[in-house]
Amino acid sequence: MMGLGSTIGNFFSRKGLLLSIAVCLIAIGWVSFYLRDSTYFIPTYKALDNFSRYLPLDGRSEDETTSSVEQIVQEESNVCPALSPYLKGAIPLSFDPSLNLEELHKKYPNVDNGRYHPDSCRAQQRVAILIPHRNREKHLLYLLDNLHPFLQRQQLDYGIYVIHQAGDEKFNRAKLLNVGYIEALKEEKWDCFILHDVDLVPENDFNTYLCDTEPKHLVVGRNITGYKLRYKGYFGGVTAMTTNQFAKVNGYSNNYWGWGGEDDDLRIRVTYNKMMVVRPPQEIARYTMLFHTRDSGNTENRRRLELLKEASKVWKTDGLNSCTYQLLSVEHKPLYLNITVDIGKAPY
Ligand code: BGC
Repeated sequence: MMGLGSTIGNFFSRKGLLLSIAVCLIAIGWVSFYLRDSTYFIPTYKALDNFSRYLPLDGRSEDETTSSVEQIVQEESNVCPALSPYLKGAIPLSFDPSLNLEELHKKYPNVDNGRYHPDSCRAQQRVAILIPHRNREKHLLYLLDNLHPFLQRQQLDYGIYVIHQAGDEKFNRAKLLNVGYIEALKEEKWDCFILHDVDLVPENDFNTYLCDTEPKHLVVGRNITGYKLRYKGYFGGVTAMTTNQFAKVNGYSNNYWGWGGEDDDLRIRVTYNKMMVVRPPQEIARYTMLFHTRDSGNTENRRRLELLKEASKVWKTDGLNSCTYQLLSVEHKPLYLNITVDIGKAPY
């Protein structure tokens, strides 16, 4: 009896020990997950090469991922590399004041309806670039003139969408980006979205416009801020999110009218959904900001701090799933697709 008792005792104490070790390991895992910095830099662009080569875009089932990996292996020789051989690094930008849309079109005859894909290889992701816009025609020309060759050197399969806010209500960048996302997906099964300000021109083509396993903020430095990160949580200007990452956070809030706050709100949504913000290295994530004075239709949003306090409570019901608008036109221009939309009235 004693023998049996001690065997059972030993069994339970060993089991207890194993259980305690397991509990400790889980606890250490959770603590390190929550204590880690929610923003980090992608260490080198070399590392990116292997990293995103077989990047399983989230939202796919394991079977789908396996079969897409098999497919990639089969087509190995035909998949574009994460770092294209045509990259040049820091390139002189072009700002020709005499440029017009017609000439620009002639300059890039290989772009059709804002779409391009490389002929020599199959791009890793289908990338939609969304540019919210109103009354910045010259900036749009400059951006297109620099962006098309930049994206082509990166061997991307891409489409450019300009989402134009009709009327003269306060500008709402975030809602226009939600509209762009919804409308672009009606046209194509995009894997990745680049949410792009019209006045920021990328300076270095190693800053790849591909999505990552975490939301990626592409603007570390701008010429006007001495190429320094504006603040640790800065998430504005140009941001890359997969279709699923953007859907997971319910897109942007629709309630930021006027300048400021909507990008901070998106970052709150991202961290609330346990994702991290990643950034390319400072030497390459550099942008030239086109000069402009504050638009009269885009005055500072003084309610942004109030709205930000509510972000974690309202994100589920304020976003893509509550984005109402009236589509006024969809025009297929040679170098971009123009979506003109009435997004309604600002309540403040
Ligand atoms: C605003 C952001 C803006 C940032 C950088 C912040 O105060 O809330 O929307 O992107 O400043 O200018």
